Amino acid sequence: MRRSRQHRLARHRPRWVPLLDDHESITLAKVAMTAALGIAFAALPAVGAGAAAKVPLPAGDSSATNKTSPADTAIVAAAGAGVATAAPAPRPAGESSATSQTSPADRAAALLRQQQALATPKAQSATPQAQSAAVSPAVVTIGFDDARETQANAGAILANYGFAGTFYLISGGGGSTFGLDNPGFLTQAQAHTLASEGHEIGGHTRSHPQLTTLATAGQTTEICGGRQDLINDGLGTPVSFAYPYGSYDTSAMGVARSCGYTSARSVDNGLDAIPPAVPMAVNAFESVTSAPNRYVSVSDLQAWVQSAENSSNQKWANLYWHDVVDAQHPGWGEDGLGNAAPGYEQSVADFQTFLGWLQGEVSAGRVKVETAGQAMASAPTPPPAIQPYGAIGGLWNAKGGSASFLGAPLNNEYDVAGLAGARMEDFAGGKIYWSPGTGAHEVHGAILGKYLEWGGPAGYGLPVTDETTTPDGVGRFNHFDGGRSIYWTPGTGAHTVYGAIRAKWQGLGWERSTLGYPATDEGDGLAGARYNHFQAGSIYWSPSIGAHEVHGAIRDTWAALGWEHGALGLPTSDEFAITGGRQSDFQGGHITWTPTGGAVVH
Ligand SMILES: [Zn+2]
Repeated sequence: MRRSRQHRLARHRPRWVPLLDDHESITLAKVAMTAALGIAFAALPAVGAGAAAKVPLPAGDSSATNKTSPADTAIVAAAGAGVATAAPAPRPAGESSATSQTSPADRAAALLRQQQALATPKAQSATPQAQSAAVSPAVVTIGFDDARETQANAGAILANYGFAGTFYLISGGGGSTFGLDNPGFLTQAQAHTLASEGHEIGGHTRSHPQLTTLATAGQTTEICGGRQDLINDGLGTPVSFAYPYGSYDTSAMGVARSCGYTSARSVDNGLDAIPPAVPMAVNAFESVTSAPNRYVSVSDLQAWVQSAENSSNQKWANLYWHDVVDAQHPGWGEDGLGNAAPGYEQSVADFQTFLGWLQGEVSAGRVKVETAGQAMASAPTPPPAIQPYGAIGGLWNAKGGSASFLGAPLNNEYDVAGLAGARMEDFAGGKIYWSPGTGAHEVHGAILGKYLEWGGPAGYGLPVTDETTTPDGVGRFNHFDGGRSIYWTPGTGAHTVYGAIRAKWQGLGWERSTLGYPATDEGDGLAGARYNHFQAGSIYWSPSIGAHEVHGAIRDTWAALGWEHGALGLPTSDEFAITGGRQSDFQGGHITWTPTGGAVVH
């Protein structure tokens, strides 16, 4: 019945009928919405070192976009004949010799200590109190909803008692016939007087809609538009919001938070904590009313406050009123349509009786009267949802934090799948891996792509360097444990090179050798052989023969005969000098080369 009456009144918009903030309208599952909103909280970028300078990408960074030059294409195409799809090499067992200096458990404990430090109110650590006397005072917030015209008087009464209230104003913006400067509502001048008396100006939308009937865009117009109206009216920068009818959903919670409100008051029953478990759905007691079936007496109010005094952790009592009026006021006892109806009023005498009692509670140290904004501001700041820490956080900060190429953290660090004791964290621009044996190193860009293609940590080992510029200044590389590397250049892209082939290449002088950079990943050759092609040669390996390089005209000739599939088989030597020329030996013969005679198969 109450709902239908309310709807009827809303259609007629009588000038003095309260806009019932009805706590019984709430049937929403706060926990479910909190979980949903938690996703949005987690998605917020973490606060990094604010002074961190932006770190530009190195000139040769592997995340740079590049196209393969025609010359390089020819090399890769020529090499491609023998390229089979490479399977990741099996990971050697037992390569982690972990001497744990910072175990995951230690790091978790360190994080907990960090969070506890952040959660400790400064006042407590700065001013030790005798535990025997330690019952922290309840916090009582005196709220007023709807910008009703009677509230100018209520604000003056509050000020006489030295109390500051929170006035949740309907802004009346956007052509609304409810709210400031409309008949029956406070004028802007009166709202300014309330602010000058020390009261907090909070928001209560533009036109007091049932927010759950609106899509997000409409909620934004009402919630954020109403807040902007108050700002434009010179009424400060509101941080406290109350939902009309106490009615909200996940979308409204997100909207209220997005436009700068630090709390949003519901009309869910009862006390709340400071900070509240759900700042965008703060609990409150029901509106003070004279309605016969919902009459809130002074002793009811006292009992609510005392319940906060007696609670160990639910110390915040949000009380709110609509009208504080004498019986002669229009609207008292009628609904504006000439019908007898309960009002949302308290008499001036009862209001003063309650405030006088409350003053005694304040004097006794059992109560602090704070505005909603003060109560929220006094709450300890929760730690950021995502804050890189430990060795991973140290490297991220050293690289420049969120402003660096690594960007914002996407999650908190977590266990590396398949590698006991190793930890990793994902960032917008790369990943950082850590283990006791390898330390923390980042991988990003095209090298990261190749690394993941080859199975990441479990398939290709943990990084033992960050991405590093090659000595010739052209390429970039990461080394990984187990003698593995990934090399990248703008012309060749990123390629794996590891094991005996990498050792051979290293022995020749890495990328500054005759061979240049890897032009393929390591791939399968004939009968268990393995190979990498490079920009200017190849290295072939088999278990019985080992690794040997072959290049130049000798390689061209060998390739023309079918590589290791031809009669010569695999190389059994590197290219070496002979009188007047060069030679490579193969399983089935050798190839010599002279400047005058060229390459000859023997
Ligand atoms: Zn309201």
